[in-house]
Amino acid sequence: MRKAIFFDRDGTLNEFKLGDYIIQVEELVLLNGAARAVKKANAAGYLCIIVTNQGGVIHNRGLAYSDVERINERLVQLLNEEGGKIDGIYVCPHYPGYESCTCRKPKTGLINMAVSDFSISLNNSYIIGDSDSDVLAGKNAGLKTVGIGERIKTEADFCTYNVEEAVNYILKRESKCQKSV
Ligand SMILES: [Mg+2]
Ligand SMILES: [Zn+2]
Repeated sequence: MRKAIFFDRDGTLNEFKLGDYIIQVEELVLLNGAARAVKKANAAGYLCIIVTNQGGVIHNRGLAYSDVERINERLVQLLNEEGGKIDGIYVCPHYPGYESCTCRKPKTGLINMAVSDFSISLNNSYIIGDSDSDVLAGKNAGLKTVGIGERIKTEADFCTYNVEEAVNYILKRESKCQKSV
């Protein structure tokens, strides 16, 4: 069984203003510390998996699923250029009011798929995100949760201001646990 860190995409790894969807590959800009966060997680033996709801941009702005995939590929490439490796990306393309599904966060379908694909141990795994739906999806799936930024209203195991600090917290917490054994 592997341990994993699940990362939300928009507002967690890349810049994102609420309601201001990313339509073009060129609009994708990494947040400060995002690549370092992934790199540190890689080095500590965590699978790094992105779980992202993209139904809004597909249904409100008419983006094709293949466009979402191209944007995701660009994200992986940008992270890679700075030494961060992504092991998998799971996308919910559905949008409430148009389709129902079992994968749109706070539902757990994306996480469950990754857990079964990579045989991930939920107990030793985390989700990091900037929305309540990320924290809730993590809780619903049985992950530990780290909320980042000011929009989180749901109680997470830890809250901080960016993704690198979130990974630092996870790694620090892990080393403490090992020492106490
Ligand atoms: Mg987000
Ligand atoms: Zn879905």
